[in-house]
Amino acid sequence: MTLDKYPTHNEFRSDTFTVPTQSMISALSTATFGDSVYKEDEVTLLLEEKMRVLTGKPGALFCASGTLSNQIGLRANLVQPPYSILCDYRAHVFLHEAGGLASLSQAMIHPVKPANEDYLTLEDIIENYTPDDGDIHAAPTKVISLENTLHGIIMPIEEIARISQFCKEEGLKLHCDGARLWNASAATGVSIKEYCSYFDSVSLCLSKSLGAPMGSILVGEEKYIEKANHFKKQNGGGIRQAGIVTSMAIVAIEENFSKLCQSHEFAKDVGSFCTKNGIALEHPVDTNFVFIDTKKMKMNDALLVTLGKKHNVRLMGKRLAFSFQNDKESVERLKLAILECYEDSKVRPFEGIKCNKKMYL
Ligand SMILES: *Cc1c(COP(=O)(O)O)cnc(C)c1O
Repeated sequence: MTLDKYPTHNEFRSDTFTVPTQSMISALSTATFGDSVYKEDEVTLLLEEKMRVLTGKPGALFCASGTLSNQIGLRANLVQPPYSILCDYRAHVFLHEAGGLASLSQAMIHPVKPANEDYLTLEDIIENYTPDDGDIHAAPTKVISLENTLHGIIMPIEEIARISQFCKEEGLKLHCDGARLWNASAATGVSIKEYCSYFDSVSLCLSKSLGAPMGSILVGEEKYIEKANHFKKQNGGGIRQAGIVTSMAIVAIEENFSKLCQSHEFAKDVGSFCTKNGIALEHPVDTNFVFIDTKKMKMNDALLVTLGKKHNVRLMGKRLAFSFQNDKESVERLKLAILECYEDSKVRPFEGIKCNKKMYL
């Protein structure tokens, strides 16, 4: 099957909508059917080995989802409450994982707003973290959880290195929610291995931009991964014939990692289109996301979604997500929808309060 267009060519709600490519579907014929809970599935072991090499970490664990790999990944870094996890106030582990850190890890979350508004720096962390100094009023910070990319923003490698050094000195664990670390690496040329070298644990999604149907990988030291696997099983995350999906994930990494830059180009094109037309963005476009500052522009998110329908593009509001499966024609139609929404805002500025219940996956 050769596709002129992916069914997701006009999908801008999330890069989770990316679909398996034809070669991924063909790879299903090479799937093995061992029981991966018994560590007997060859293709799943192959994927984990591939990820050990790619990340330079001695342990790798295939998980059903990014939420699972983050949750067990953070849990396995923690020992005895009371403790807290410091992260960005927009972090997925804080806002979009169903409160899992409170219930699964009994951890207090300490969300921090970056002073530069884009990404956390060592200064933000020093100002906010809680040392384990015997003060019985506080919940000491045991883990710093960084997200890269976050809202498509790349965290500079120099900043990661500074924070990593600080964590080592202070005896804190450093976790990376690298659901989209692929995008950071594709954009900067910094290898996945170099990024991972600064963290104790990293989770990397397979089902976002890369297009695998499901899954995420957690990497870290061997002993740590054994512990995480224990929590994986406890949370019902053991998968029997995982080869069916891991065979597709291998192809997703091999073939699609290099295609991510295409989605970054689409995003940059739409970002500069907005800027040229006087439409403010919430932050710079580093990778595959554009966040229109609809609040500042008094643009109505709901109207944007409706105008998307009119122009045959799928939207969910101010956040525009791009993937290599989009096409140029849909990107052009997206611009028309944005412009029309902007024109409307000049006539009917949207003054309503925006509901914050939208899930941004
Ligand atoms: C999507 C996402 C996750 C969770 O992945 P799921 O597979 O949807 O559970 C974690 N972190 C970030 C930054 C994400 O975007």
